[in-house]
Amino acid sequence: MELNKLGVIEANKKYIDGEFSAVEMVNACIESIKEHADKNAVIEVFDDAICCAEKLDAKREAKEKLGKLAGTVVLVKDNILVKGKKATASSNFLKNFESIYSATVVNKMLSEDAIILGRTNMDEFAMGSDGSSSIYGKTKNAIDDNYSAGGSSSGSAVAVKLNDCTFALGTDTGGSIRFPASYNGVCGVKPTYGTVSRNGVYAYASSFNQVGPITKNAKDSAYVLEIIAGVDQMDMTTLNYQAYDFSSLIGEDVSGKVYAVEKNISSLIKDKECESYFNALVDFIKAKGGVIKEIEIDNILRVGDVYKLVAYAEASSNLSRYDGLKYTTQAQDCLSAQEIYVKSRSQGFGKEVKKRIMLGNYILSKKEVYAKAKNLQQLIINSYNEKMQGVDCLLLPTSFGVAPKASENRQECILGVLANVLRAPSISIPYAKNKEGLPLGVQIMAKELDEKKIYQLAVSIEKNYGEVR
Ligand code: GLN
Repeated sequence: MELNKLGVIEANKKYIDGEFSAVEMVNACIESIKEHADKNAVIEVFDDAICCAEKLDAKREAKEKLGKLAGTVVLVKDNILVKGKKATASSNFLKNFESIYSATVVNKMLSEDAIILGRTNMDEFAMGSDGSSSIYGKTKNAIDDNYSAGGSSSGSAVAVKLNDCTFALGTDTGGSIRFPASYNGVCGVKPTYGTVSRNGVYAYASSFNQVGPITKNAKDSAYVLEIIAGVDQMDMTTLNYQAYDFSSLIGEDVSGKVYAVEKNISSLIKDKECESYFNALVDFIKAKGGVIKEIEIDNILRVGDVYKLVAYAEASSNLSRYDGLKYTTQAQDCLSAQEIYVKSRSQGFGKEVKKRIMLGNYILSKKEVYAKAKNLQQLIINSYNEKMQGVDCLLLPTSFGVAPKASENRQECILGVLANVLRAPSISIPYAKNKEGLPLGVQIMAKELDEKKIYQLAVSIEKNYGEVR
């Protein structure tokens, strides 16, 4: 049995049944990480992981009750805090920062006996879609080095695909879980806004950001999301639910369910290959008894504008805390506090981050612009909620094609940011491969808090739509 290849539910069951030890599992993942070091997905393996595994094995030996993640190994994106460990957001500015506490999501996983093995590469401060703007260098696509890994959760998606871990966590503000999931052929979910606590996660655009699991299949995704979701008094944006049910519809078929495609978005798919794969999937769902409906959401093509105005404005505000005096690396030879701010920020932040801070400050200097963008966001949400009445899920491609060449910069903005602007849940699962063997993801969205409908369709596609992995 290749332990590192096991999924979450499978690993937990086999571990509880005594089929392997946690030390063996951690070692299998470390071996895999070493083997794939050239991909640059995992930037640190924590030195106490074996020790944590030994403790878990001792717990099993003592016949204590084991958690829902016992036997699994998780890697976290470099913007999620783990107590006593570095968390740098892959930025030069935070390259020496060690956290004194763990994010709520990390504590939730630890209380279910997960082993946190290390941290994964990402675009600096989660600003980007190709995993290239990192102090650790570019992440390479899991399948073919010549293609983009996607981003910003590049390392998490690549690591899951390469079986460097049982699952990983990413964050998604405008597609950052779903793009890399699609480009590397794994499952990634951006939950309903407010489902998962962001306490202990570096803030970028607070109106949009969510933490989500990246897994080897959709059933594992629902399972992990149920564990990490829930109200948290340390994050006032979390919704007031103690527990969520994301899995109870898994196993039901699609017959009689209503699935929508969005007219304006369908017309944006220029890539013929992507279009034909997508249409084939829609036809398949129809053939299985699903009802396909075309909808049109008002102002949908303006989600990119809403995203940029709101995200950059919030980024400039959120990142103002990094001033060279606290948390971050301080510039040398400064004669005043002012000089420390200016020099440290100039030296600490990369190009893309600086660009967004400057644009964000400009947006905030024109007060009505941010307010107007937030108003437009609400109008789009209202239209979405109205058009989705009686519809179970909305189907759209995750990206306009397979991963672009590593050197290419494709603008996917709208497909990524739509779910974030709508605050709606969205999953990306692999469903097709092109002739070169590169995966393609489909995105399934639903109304806020309707994750279980997403998981029902995702699992059904995985099960019935042929072998794509
Ligand atoms: N492409 C988006 C951006 O660069 C993705 C960001 C994200 O989801 N963190 O803003």
